[in-house]
Amino acid sequence: LIYQEKLSPYSREELMARISDKLDQPRFEHVKRVEQTAIELAQENNVDVEKASVAGLVHDYAKQRSDKDFKHAIIQYDLDPDLLNWGNAIWHGVVGAELIKMELGIYDEDILNAVRYHTTGNTYMTSLAQIVFMADYIEPGRNFPGVGVARRLTHHSLQDGVVYQIASTLSYLVQRQAKIYPKTIETYNAWVPSAS
Ligand code: GDP
Ligand code: FE
Ligand code: FE
Ligand code: FE
Repeated sequence: LIYQEKLSPYSREELMARISDKLDQPRFEHVKRVEQTAIELAQENNVDVEKASVAGLVHDYAKQRSDKDFKHAIIQYDLDPDLLNWGNAIWHGVVGAELIKMELGIYDEDILNAVRYHTTGNTYMTSLAQIVFMADYIEPGRNFPGVGVARRLTHHSLQDGVVYQIASTLSYLVQRQAKIYPKTIETYNAWVPSAS
């Protein structure tokens, strides 16, 4: 499959080779399942299937970079210095998008934002960003309590799936006494249906 030139300078095969070079096999298998799930959700929601394919394939491109590489990139690309207080979970999307741009030559902002927001969500997400966010959560290799509900909700309504994931992940993180990235809370407040 050759992608439109404005989406990726590489064909799907070339892009997959470059990504698999940076990831171990289990992570690369996850990436391919996210791509397939994102394509399905794109078809169900009238979203560009090629964008869903590229975004699904690249979303965890930076997942296995060292902390040192990320800290260097945060400074080099003038990203929010507060990022330095966080770790791989937050960096691989937000900082990863810059590495995807520079190393893979993908400049489509819709795709890059879908990568930036795939872990924490965002107050505003395009349909493509919602699709990558949900495909990452419900791909067939995922196996956690509630994944069945998440799959059913998401195929019924993408937005209901997004709300379910945001609330479940926040509650999971709080239960584990993990630090909550402030944007995760902003995302939650923007997406819960009603003020009270
Ligand atoms: P993956 O890259 O496919 O494993 O999945 P994600 O990119 O969605 O998530 C990576 C990790 O970040 C998961 O373990 C999430 O639970 C975690 N995560 C998501 N939001 C936050 C947050 O606000 N704070 C912290 N500490 N971790 C988070
Ligand atoms: Fe990820
Ligand atoms: Fe996710
Ligand atoms: Fe992922």
